Amino acid sequence: MHGPGSTNDQQGRPGAAASVVPLNDLCRPLDMLGVEIAEAVETVVRSGRYIFGLNVAAFEEEFAAYCGTQHCITVANGTDALELALRALGCGSGNEVVTVANAGMYAAAATIAVGATPVFADIDARTMTMAPESLAHAVGPRTKAIVVTHLYGRLADIDALLGIARRHGIAIVEDCAQAHGARRNGRLAGAWGDIGCFSFYPTKNLGALGDGGAIVTGDGALASAVRELRQYGWTGKYAASRPHGRNSRLDEIQAAVLRLKLPHLDRWNERRRSIVQRYRGAADGSVVVPDVDGVDHAAHLCVVRSRDREALRGHLANDRIATEIHYPVPDHRQVALRALLPPDIALPQTERAVDEILTLPCFPEMTDEEIGRVCASLARFCEQANQCRQARSTR
Ligand SMILES: *Cc1c(COP(=O)(O)O)cnc(C)c1O
Repeated sequence: MHGPGSTNDQQGRPGAAASVVPLNDLCRPLDMLGVEIAEAVETVVRSGRYIFGLNVAAFEEEFAAYCGTQHCITVANGTDALELALRALGCGSGNEVVTVANAGMYAAAATIAVGATPVFADIDARTMTMAPESLAHAVGPRTKAIVVTHLYGRLADIDALLGIARRHGIAIVEDCAQAHGARRNGRLAGAWGDIGCFSFYPTKNLGALGDGGAIVTGDGALASAVRELRQYGWTGKYAASRPHGRNSRLDEIQAAVLRLKLPHLDRWNERRRSIVQRYRGAADGSVVVPDVDGVDHAAHLCVVRSRDREALRGHLANDRIATEIHYPVPDHRQVALRALLPPDIALPQTERAVDEILTLPCFPEMTDEEIGRVCASLARFCEQANQCRQARSTR
């Protein structure tokens, strides 16, 4: 089972020399792109133009073309993208924004930043994205927008969600911060709703060397609104006509880096999916590995589910495999939101998932040896779980 060069001993336990399989390693892409990135950064430095130059303009064009949308407007980070999108749609105090509670609180933070109130819909048990029937219950007369998060890289049930939104005349904001390049029937994440929001935080499928974000849209009026909001509300130099303007810009260095990385995105996503599919082949029913056999999943995070999550986490740690929980506290249980929300919110599927989810290492530059170690560890955990079950049933 363990080939030559394996760091595991005869029992399959990692030996003293076994290094940790990391959740991610942001230095590894530099093996391939380091020289090009250094040259691009130097070119920007020498150009003397650091804000709104050639690279930002070119990246906005290239990313809009990639997403298949008419407009792309870059901003400083993904949370700003959500906030400016909600502002552009006219969300403010007195409005409600429906979103999910299992996606890291970014949408709720943006909602609160514009003065609106978050309302939570529950998730679908299998996809862990917004459940259409729960959305139908959550919308009301004060709902101004719906933020649909394509969580972990999986394109949500966007057709059904759009159907409900359109029936009520409510806009949909797609949170694509984990789903760059995910697509269904040839249409990419970000090109389904009224506005798509992206983050280029370094660990994302398309990541900068710092913070970055963007919105994409086919609506010219929304695009102009975001362009003004990201720069002081200016409609012309020093002429602030649009209320609630602020400063939220992507800089030239980050745009230059993103331009170098964008052509590799589809191949990197393919590699991510193949890693998850290998885990899927190694595990059985006691660890549920998501099915990412399709381009509608960008496999940003490999989040598995287990009834015995803590045991699984301990087992993997013992084999020196890093894990994480995305996310351990659902939004409606966050201390910072306590004063803003009713105390009796019940989201049964969201709450069940929080206790069962575990994120495994998954990034394009993982070595085959590392993937093999995760597979072997998963297989052993499942085998032991099966033996326990059989022992119980024959007793
Ligand atoms: C990372 C992330 C964000 C926020 O992006 P930042 O650039 O860190 O502000 C928003 N939504 C989701 C789903 C994310 O994963």
